[in-house]
Amino acid sequence: MGGRSRSAARNGGPGMSAKNDSGASGKGGPHTRLAAAGRRPEWTGPVVNPPVWRASTHLYPDTAALKEGGRTNEDGRFFYGRRGAPTQWALAEALTAIEPGAAGTVLYPSGVAAIAGALLAVLKPGDVLLVTDNAYEPSRVMANGLLRRMGVEARFFDPRDVDGFAAQFCERTKAVLLESPGSLTMEVCDVPALAAIAREKGAVSLIDNTWASPLGFPALERGCDIAITSLTKHVGGHSDLMMGAASGGERWYRRLRQTAQALGQVVSPDDAALALRGLRTMGLRLERSAATALALAEWLEGRDEVAHVLCPMLPGSPGHELWRRDFAGGCGLFSFIFASDDAEAADRFVDALSLFGIGFSWGGFESLALPIDPAKVRTASAWPPAGWAPGHRRGVRLSVGLEDPADLVADMEQAFTGTRQA
Ligand SMILES: *Cc1c(COP(=O)(O)O)cnc(C)c1O
Repeated sequence: MGGRSRSAARNGGPGMSAKNDSGASGKGGPHTRLAAAGRRPEWTGPVVNPPVWRASTHLYPDTAALKEGGRTNEDGRFFYGRRGAPTQWALAEALTAIEPGAAGTVLYPSGVAAIAGALLAVLKPGDVLLVTDNAYEPSRVMANGLLRRMGVEARFFDPRDVDGFAAQFCERTKAVLLESPGSLTMEVCDVPALAAIAREKGAVSLIDNTWASPLGFPALERGCDIAITSLTKHVGGHSDLMMGAASGGERWYRRLRQTAQALGQVVSPDDAALALRGLRTMGLRLERSAATALALAEWLEGRDEVAHVLCPMLPGSPGHELWRRDFAGGCGLFSFIFASDDAEAADRFVDALSLFGIGFSWGGFESLALPIDPAKVRTASAWPPAGWAPGHRRGVRLSVGLEDPADLVADMEQAFTGTRQA
């Protein structure tokens, strides 16, 4: 499509909506959409990708256009830099095109900003928010800090207990924040059931869908109202940018957009261009890193040092059945728990690795490892879970990148051997 260029983007020109109403971006399978989405000729000109529109100021041809520009607040219309330009619109449109059921997508400068922006769009003082107990730690901190300060009460629930979740609703429960799999402990929850309960009780369901991305888990199609992604992870994919996104159907998309504009959220066009570039290969990268992760998980399952492998793609792993039922793909992020309750075993293992970097992020081309102690960040569900030995508590989270699987296995093998306690 990129070759059929017409005019460059004009002020308020036709067909400039960032919503998913363009034929080319919404058609075909997910990988076809990854390749085509957001590449409107009026945004790309005669080249494949939209240029980086580095713009704070948009100029109007005359005062009549200036007045008109101030009156309308539509997607894809130039106004002022905070409402973006074709580079950001193209990324938002591409993300909408891979999220079935989305009317639009709002971009934020980080994943945490997307979570905050979405929660602030749906909550008001006096409301109760239900938060999954396996939530990303900064989401917990936000619920217990920022939201509590504005009069929102956060209550945590066990992600595996559907009945307990239903029982926790009260008159004031207005929103639920899900995350599946949890990005540390990897429990898969029954999202369609939880989202249906939330809807029946009149609460908005938001999901942090960073692990699966819309390719692996079409969250809106599975019943959620708002799907949040940290683009820093799989979409960027190269550990060189920070960004977040939230998508919704018409009603929630409008609210997200209004709130983001009120908060002054905007992303840099350079980062938007990088994210768009990452998005084009995300499907391939996810397939490769998920396949390697599964191979590593299988290998870890056979090690005496390992008590539990927490990898939804692995048959027999907690959540595997729900993952098979609801997901179309996985990714390279999973955890395992040590058989020893030696508090330093995970640290020693991670320090002994040489191909895995030590860092908090994930979803990049390079593998990472992180010692984890989930018990420290849970309040509504037991850790270790019921049925596990009490010492099976600490472990390591791996973000598997694009390296050769055999090299990663060899690195883990030498780390286990070299740190074995006498
Ligand atoms: C990293 C992460 C985020 C936050 O994204 P940033 O872009 O780092 O702010 C949110 N949710 C999950 C599950 C994450 O792993």
